[in-house]
Amino acid sequence: MDLFEHQAKELFADYGIPVPRGVVAFTVEDVRKAAEQLTGRVVVKAQVKTGGRGKAGGVKVADDANDAVAKATDILGMDIKGHTVHKVLVEEASAIAEEYYFSFLLDRANRTFLAICSAAGGMDIEEVAHSTPEKVAKVAISPLTGVDRAKAREIAAAGQLPEKALDGAAELIEKLWCVFVDEDATLVEVNPMILTADGDVKALDGKVTLDGNAEFRQKDVFEKFADKAAEDPLEAAAKEKDLNYVKLDGNVGIIGNGAGLVMSTLDVVAYAGEQFSGKPKPANFLDIGGGASAEVMAAGLEIILSDPAVKSIFVNVFGGITACDAVANGIVAAFKLLEDRGEAVTRPLVVRLDGNNALLGRQILADAALKGVELVDTMDDAAKRAAELAAAGV
Ligand code: GDP
Ligand code: MN
Repeated sequence: MDLFEHQAKELFADYGIPVPRGVVAFTVEDVRKAAEQLTGRVVVKAQVKTGGRGKAGGVKVADDANDAVAKATDILGMDIKGHTVHKVLVEEASAIAEEYYFSFLLDRANRTFLAICSAAGGMDIEEVAHSTPEKVAKVAISPLTGVDRAKAREIAAAGQLPEKALDGAAELIEKLWCVFVDEDATLVEVNPMILTADGDVKALDGKVTLDGNAEFRQKDVFEKFADKAAEDPLEAAAKEKDLNYVKLDGNVGIIGNGAGLVMSTLDVVAYAGEQFSGKPKPANFLDIGGGASAEVMAAGLEIILSDPAVKSIFVNVFGGITACDAVANGIVAAFKLLEDRGEAVTRPLVVRLDGNNALLGRQILADAALKGVELVDTMDDAAKRAAELAAAGV
């Protein structure tokens, strides 16, 4: 989960990392109040989960509250790389002497953590890294020893930060390591990390990505920073049911077991859809995992059916440890469960069962003779049939 800058800074502040005082504002009136409260020069910063806000005109320094209102009027509602600005962070302006770059990240390729540090930070860091890579230090961090003050100082020195900034930077880097580890982050980036005219080192920007796999042990922070407004309602409902669901914009509902199989199902359906009118496409990704019980199947069907765009459903299962007969029984039970709830399945369902106990599974479905359910033997033919039914249902 990516955090907004103001959330990252809130987290930083909890760890004693110096950040400018700031207030989040959703309207120009709120911006005026915030600027008056902060007094003096302020910075108005677009809060969107993408980089390059400064270059896009989403970060502006204002002389006073009136000026802040004028700047915020430009920024609120602005589109930055496809993200609409709904809120801004109003901060006390900092007197910047120098801008540095710093980040901790998970280096998957090298199976380690990495610290990246450079004295040439700021908005052009990508260009610096590209044309003068020697100015950007990359230091591997062992998860066993981590980062103490001495290691932090070594990283800052490797990034060629000036002597006068080393102590402040080392303190900040050590604390950022605590954020990175304690919050289960995969990225903590501060660009720019600044040296102020007074000689202090501060985090002027913050980008944090929390590891979604750690949500179970970081419930508080995930709950606190969840971006409910941006969440798709169907995806939110699926998450409540522990389903791996991603909403797409087509009209063929997809259910499969195993992420790889579901992804190839999406491709096959999109390809098959090309030959029909309206070019039906997958409406979603849904992996019901290994143990496709009746409850899970019912929950999956329920989510898919609550998407009004869905005209047909393709259930693509390759039986493994959970054999096809169990899946078939799951489908039969799911139909009954939904019917009892007054939510009977009325859209056509194409089922392809293969793998462990496929014949038995097909027999169970044939015997059950569920209304609107068709059995097709191969994945390609089933995809084609599901697309055809979706085209006919449009
Ligand atoms: P980004 O472009 O999305 O990374 O946004 P940043 O928060 O990094 O801001 C971009 C640039 O705006 C920084 O590199 C600074 O040069 C400038 N900036 C941000 N805050 C201040 C401030 O308080 N005072 C001054 N003078 N410049 C600032
Ligand atoms: Mn930045």
